[in-house]
Amino acid sequence: MTPSLKYPPRLDLARTPTPLQPLRRFCAENNLPTIWLKRDDLTHSLASGNKIRKLEFCLAEAQAQGADVVLTYGGIQSNHCRTTAVLGAELGLKVHLVLRGDAAPDGAPDGNLLLDNLTGATITYVNARRLAKEAERVEAEIRAGYESSGQRVYSIPIGASDATGLWGYIAACDELINDFMATAIQPAAIITASGSGGTQAGLMAGSALLGLNVPVFGINVCDDAAWFEQKIQHDLQKWQAKYKQPIELAELVVNMIDGYVGEGYARASDEVLSTIKSVARSEGVIFDPVYTGKAFNGLLKELDKGRFAGASDLVFIHTGGIFGLYPFRERL
Ligand SMILES: *Cc1c(COP(=O)(O)O)cnc(C)c1O
Repeated sequence: MTPSLKYPPRLDLARTPTPLQPLRRFCAENNLPTIWLKRDDLTHSLASGNKIRKLEFCLAEAQAQGADVVLTYGGIQSNHCRTTAVLGAELGLKVHLVLRGDAAPDGAPDGNLLLDNLTGATITYVNARRLAKEAERVEAEIRAGYESSGQRVYSIPIGASDATGLWGYIAACDELINDFMATAIQPAAIITASGSGGTQAGLMAGSALLGLNVPVFGINVCDDAAWFEQKIQHDLQKWQAKYKQPIELAELVVNMIDGYVGEGYARASDEVLSTIKSVARSEGVIFDPVYTGKAFNGLLKELDKGRFAGASDLVFIHTGGIFGLYPFRERL
């Protein structure tokens, strides 16, 4: 039996457990160990991906605090912002998004932004440089607008990667334990794309809390290894301080696989796009250009260089992102 954890309040929003499925054809064709996908692209049709797992906890906390409005942040094509917008509409909470950009992009809204609009989110565009320098002021201004009419605002950081959201991937580890029993595998590693670190941090904490005994690796799609080490340690410390869980943070290792950011966040090389196409054709599984496609392509290159040599099974978290594919249509 696995130890049972005491979770903080949680909403039942994601369609979980998600399947764990092997990429048998693709791996056989390419002479690879068996890569299993944790299909978190199947957590919801519109609010699909990894953010819904974290938001089950963040939005429960927002409701408990009597919030009327949820405020959060991201890029123009943020999956996290789209997920928050959809779930806000589902729960009857107003959603206010601060998107990094000078203004609404030209032309009809695409991909995630189309869904932000359709589900009625209020959007403020803030120039990236101003947002980096004056984040607190931007937030205070938006809050003041709501609070002056007596509305309560609950704010969620980028990617819902904070102490509360971290529980999402601790809960996912609870599923993985059952997945590993059902499939009788003991994978050599769990690998995820990392953007704000919350998925990786949650997997690390969950793995330690539940005795999963599988090392967790993050392939960063922005910034660098040093940034993630610091961010993940900081989030884990906040989580430990808030929830007092019985694990030694000092024993957790932040394993980053750096070197696959390419030209930058949300920019994908032809090679990444071509990996997306070949997995789509051989498996009927679609990765996105910003996170999963970039990270999966990185994983293939690492395998080629001999990392995880001798492993028979690896687990890659398919963290979703399908709507981010559409703005790349011309290159696909
Ligand atoms: C946000 C996101 C990630 C990264 O997760 P973090 O917890 O922010 O590191 C990976 N894949 C997809 C599709 C995402 O939207």
